[in-house]
Amino acid sequence: MRVKIDYDLCMGDRNCAKVCPQVFQYDEDEINAKVVVDVVPPDLEDLVRQAADECAPGAIIVED
Ligand code: SF4
Repeated sequence: MRVKIDYDLCMGDRNCAKVCPQVFQYDEDEINAKVVVDVVPPDLEDLVRQAADECAPGAIIVED
């Protein structure tokens, strides 16, 4: 699984970084979240899907 963020939609509420900090980190300079892994480790896929489901503006794009 790969995941990316649509920066036109991200509103920077940091929820993804709370749900799965191993994959998402908040960038204080850019004021949005960023993905810090190339490929999501299998044991984190459920948390990434949860973060995507909870992302209010739908900015997290999961690619299976
Ligand atoms: S949960 Fe969505 S809107 Fe919030 S910081 Fe993460 S990508 Fe951006």
